[in-house]
Amino acid sequence: MGRDVCVPSICAACGGKCCQIYKPASEGGAFPDGHTWFTDWLSDWYDVFEESGAFSFMPPLFDPIIAHENSGRGKRYREALRRAGIDPDYCQYWSLKGCLLPRDKRPAACREYACERLRQAIADADKNLPEGEQA
Ligand code: SF4
Ligand code: SF4
Repeated sequence: MGRDVCVPSICAACGGKCCQIYKPASEGGAFPDGHTWFTDWLSDWYDVFEESGAFSFMPPLFDPIIAHENSGRGKRYREALRRAGIDPDYCQYWSLKGCLLPRDKRPAACREYACERLRQAIADADKNLPEGEQA
C-alpha cells in the first residue's frame, strides 16, 4: 500500500492540477496520452469512487460520460457546466475550493498520489526531521 501523502499548502497553491483527470497529459492533465480507452478510464474512476464511499457521501457535480460525449448533447452539457463554473476536464468532485470529499472518502490513488513537486517538498521536510523520525 502507498503512503498517504498531503501537504495542504502546496496543493492549495497549485489548485489541484492532478485532479484534471479527464484532460490529456500532453495538455497538462492526468489522462495518459495515446490511449484510446477513455471509456475504460471513466469506468475505472467510477469504480474507485464507489469503493471509497464518495457516491454515498455526496452526488458528483456532473456526469463525466455525458460531459465527454462527442455529440450535440455532450457539447451543450459542457457549455452548461462551464457557465455554472464547473470544469468538465477536472474530476467530478473538484471545485475551485479544492476536492469536495473528506480525505477518508477519496480514492486511495488520490490520497497516495504525489507529483514531483510534492515529493520534493516531502523529501525536504523529512530531511529536517530528527534522526529516527524520518520516513
Ligand atoms: S499533488 Fe502536485 S499536482 Fe496534485 S495538487 Fe498537489 S501539488 Fe498539485
Ligand atoms: S477525488 Fe478529489 S483529490 Fe481525487 S481527483 Fe477528485 S477532486 Fe482530486
